[in-house]
Amino acid sequence: MEDLSKTMQQLMNQRHLNDNYRQLMAKVYDDPAVTAFYQAHRDELADDVLTRSAAKLYEFVSEREKLANGGTTFATGYEPQLIVSNHLIDVAYVPTKETQEKQAQQQLRQRVKSIAMPKSIREADLKNFDQDPDRAEALMAALDFVDAYEASPKRRHQALYLAGSFGVGKTYLLAAVANQLAADGFSTTLVHFPSFAVEMKNAIAQNGVAGKLAALKKSPVLMIDDIGADAMSAWVRDDVLGVILEYRMQEELPTFFSSNFSMEQLEKEHLRISTRGDDEPLKAQRLMQRIRFLAREITMVGVNRRPQ
Ligand code: ADP
Ligand code: MG
Repeated sequence: MEDLSKTMQQLMNQRHLNDNYRQLMAKVYDDPAVTAFYQAHRDELADDVLTRSAAKLYEFVSEREKLANGGTTFATGYEPQLIVSNHLIDVAYVPTKETQEKQAQQQLRQRVKSIAMPKSIREADLKNFDQDPDRAEALMAALDFVDAYEASPKRRHQALYLAGSFGVGKTYLLAAVANQLAADGFSTTLVHFPSFAVEMKNAIAQNGVAGKLAALKKSPVLMIDDIGADAMSAWVRDDVLGVILEYRMQEELPTFFSSNFSMEQLEKEHLRISTRGDDEPLKAQRLMQRIRFLAREITMVGVNRRPQ
């Protein structure tokens, strides 16, 4: 842009080009956007603004024309806008409507952090959640949570523990809640728990455990997907899951779960028995107390909706 301004200055300084220059500028001074801007800001502008800002006005008109003809300005996705600067007229480049929408979309995506979740969760939408009576309770509870949380995000809100067999839409419903919260400005972390447990084990060697743990502990809303799908080591149960849940309970941070097991089954058949085969009913009970504090159980039934 500097170059264009310089060229215009040079043009103006070269008398023999005056006619050319006048022709160019006649178009600029006739431009409806230019004249409207000039009228609207006349009080703030220097008396000789039309000559002193001629290069800027020319830049504005020609860049806008380029854009209208399918070209791009110096930065893709930006359009020129006239502004007042120091009693003169200057050109600022602002994101176009499409760019703004794209940026808003990106921000929205960033509010849903996911760990080892399928990409398709982006499409999940509460509006598309079917009104099947078998799943109405879960949908109602999800909608109630969103309303209550958004009305007072600092208060304690009990989240949901979605229990139900493979393919009934537990993950879909969690993701739809996360997307709704994102649309309304709230951040959620969705984590596929069995994959996360493996990641944590690998992180030990790289000293990355604390960082990964902190991200989950502190997420404003956390959704632990598929808890109980894989056998858990005592370390994952007590030092990973236990630590995360303890923190979230203390801080009263909403925490969802989904599982193929009911709460009862999770405690008796899953958490009690470590991968080494030890039976630890007390540890399982303590963990279950935290889960029960954080979430209430809702059973989802229905057909397996996964494409076969
Ligand atoms: P679960 O987590 O209970 O095993 P999913 O949430 O993965 O089940 O759902 C199984 C499949 O059905 C997925 O492909 C999901 O996208 C789809 N699905 C679930 N519920 C809906 C819904 N209400 N509308 C559209 N697709 C859905
Ligand atoms: Mg699932």
